[in-house]
Amino acid sequence: AKDAGRGTAVVFDDTMHREAEERRLLQEDLRLALDGGQLRIGYQPIVSVRQGDIIGFEALVRWHHPERGLLLPSTFIALAEETGLIESIGAWVLRQACSDAMTWPAHMRVAVNISPAQFGSAALLNHVAEALAASGLLPDRLELEITEALFMNHLAESDGFLRDMRALGVRIALDDFGTGFSSLGYLTRFPIQKLKIDRSFVSGATDFENRKAVVEAIVGIAKSLHFETTAEGVETAEDLAWVRSLGCDQAQGYHFSKALPIDHVGAFILGFGNG
Ligand code: C2E
Ligand code: CA
Ligand code: CA
Ligand code: CA
Repeated sequence: AKDAGRGTAVVFDDTMHREAEERRLLQEDLRLALDGGQLRIGYQPIVSVRQGDIIGFEALVRWHHPERGLLLPSTFIALAEETGLIESIGAWVLRQACSDAMTWPAHMRVAVNISPAQFGSAALLNHVAEALAASGLLPDRLELEITEALFMNHLAESDGFLRDMRALGVRIALDDFGTGFSSLGYLTRFPIQKLKIDRSFVSGATDFENRKAVVEAIVGIAKSLHFETTAEGVETAEDLAWVRSLGCDQAQGYHFSKALPIDHVGAFILGFGNG
């Protein structure tokens, strides 16, 4: 028993060591990825439920790693947050997304995800202003997606930042709504224009009465506060019919498209019939 215990401890140590080493390697690679042009943005369409046309695209970062292939944000955003690299990655995404959006029809918006970790420094405000100035994009075509985690960890910074963004004319969406430590107080305290209903309540939700009740409640709150709503994770025609019946304004999900490389966006818009 003593030997077995020691054996387990050794294996555990080994695994921890390998994981730490793995993280260190990935972190070094990530530093080089930005300068090396390995980060790309995928654009996922957001569709108006009533009119059925594209109202804009969400920018989703991807890492084309030279050896590991395509890496999704779940493998590197947390690492970028812990190392502080999120600041320069976030600035790059903002610049790139704003300049890409300039190639789309003028009524289409671009949504950019902002990590709570980007609120640690004062640089974020400048990065947004610079991305708008460099691209010439009208501020109301840029929508920043934030999560409730921000209010938990960076209440003071976020308050001023969101007010400055609204003064600039940039739109604010509350992402993954319903999954965090939601306080309805946030909805009236901060200048928000949109709630994005998390896909855990949406995909296949027709099967589950409880989820239905949650989405109905969220849409009701949003309507009374005059927020737009986007249902995330609309994967099937059935999901779409359901979020339509609940009165969601917009839908986003694999039913329409996954995130597309920028050079496929133009053709997608034309094919969708509202270029
Ligand atoms: P998110 O902001 O909630 O983005 C939506 C995620 O759901 C995306 O995953 C998207 O590909 C996926 N998705 C879209 N439609 C469907 C669907 O119908 N079914 C399912 N199962 N999934 C769908 P992705 O691209 O892997 O991004 C994951 C998360 O990484 C994002 O979640 C966002 O929080 C974060 N992220 C992505 N890009 C950035 C970025 O540029 N900066 C920051 N800070 N975070 C980012
Ligand atoms: Ca998002
Ligand atoms: Ca989301
Ligand atoms: Ca999410």
